[in-house]
Amino acid sequence: MSESVEILAGERNHQTDTILNSKPDKMAYRKDRKYWFVCDPCGIVCAVMTYFLIVYGEVVVLVVLAPPFPTFWTGVSVAIFTTLAVLAVVSHVKSMTTDPGVVPRESSSEEEVLERRQKGDEIRFCKKCRSIKPDRAHHCSTCEHCIQRMDHHCPWINNCVGENNQKFFVLFTFYIMSMSIFGLGMVGLFFFRCVGQNFQGCDALVPGPLAFILTLFGVFEGFLFSLFTCIMFGTQIHAIATDETGIESLKKENRDQKGWRQSFEEIFGSPLSVKWLSPFTPPPNAPLLRRRLLLNV
Ligand SMILES: [Zn+2]
Ligand SMILES: [Zn+2]
Repeated sequence: MSESVEILAGERNHQTDTILNSKPDKMAYRKDRKYWFVCDPCGIVCAVMTYFLIVYGEVVVLVVLAPPFPTFWTGVSVAIFTTLAVLAVVSHVKSMTTDPGVVPRESSSEEEVLERRQKGDEIRFCKKCRSIKPDRAHHCSTCEHCIQRMDHHCPWINNCVGENNQKFFVLFTFYIMSMSIFGLGMVGLFFFRCVGQNFQGCDALVPGPLAFILTLFGVFEGFLFSLFTCIMFGTQIHAIATDETGIESLKKENRDQKGWRQSFEEIFGSPLSVKWLSPFTPPPNAPLLRRRLLLNV
């Protein structure tokens, strides 16, 4: 008994010291905050580059691939490619500006932590956020917060992938993958048609050499991004299906796993519907709200 009291007293001193010696919080969580944006220069550059590459793909389609063959089906192809590009951009913006599942900072006093530990709760405490770390939450040093069900921090979306924005991230990889593969198909068809007519009229809007360079870079981009996003999309689907985040997989954390269906419904919403493919529909965030209520913040 005396030994356990001593341990608790030691913990109390340690927790008290940790809290008192911590630096002032420069990015304190505000309950009334409506917008989320991570001010990370590397992430911002990557995000701007992503938009540039999407616009570049659209330009290649509009000025090189489409003009020489002004048919109905060319119009349909351009419309499909443009729709995929718009959905990719919307998914990216939503991924970047959605709170990924932030655990409020300074949400727990040392008394509460000790009280709950005395009751036998195995709770984790984040010294950087000075708050209780809920189950499956991890601290992100770029976002400077603990994130619920954190998968990884992605510089391409300048945000963490967590329980609130994983749907948007999966859709972003899906639409980039789709537009890259579709774009490569359009280039293949363009080349096939041009060979058939000895490249006569294939430089309808831009001179031949420039069209060649633009298309070459477009093909390079298409291959690179289709490969990259195929891997990311597959990894994300596997992570959701097995209910194991990227961090849990790396740390080999053992925990009870949900069924794949429940796991997908938690990320995309219930039941399965066409809304799963829409970046305009918010994902369900009930689990986050429940945990916040439990934490009484
Ligand atoms: Zn933290
Ligand atoms: Zn992060």
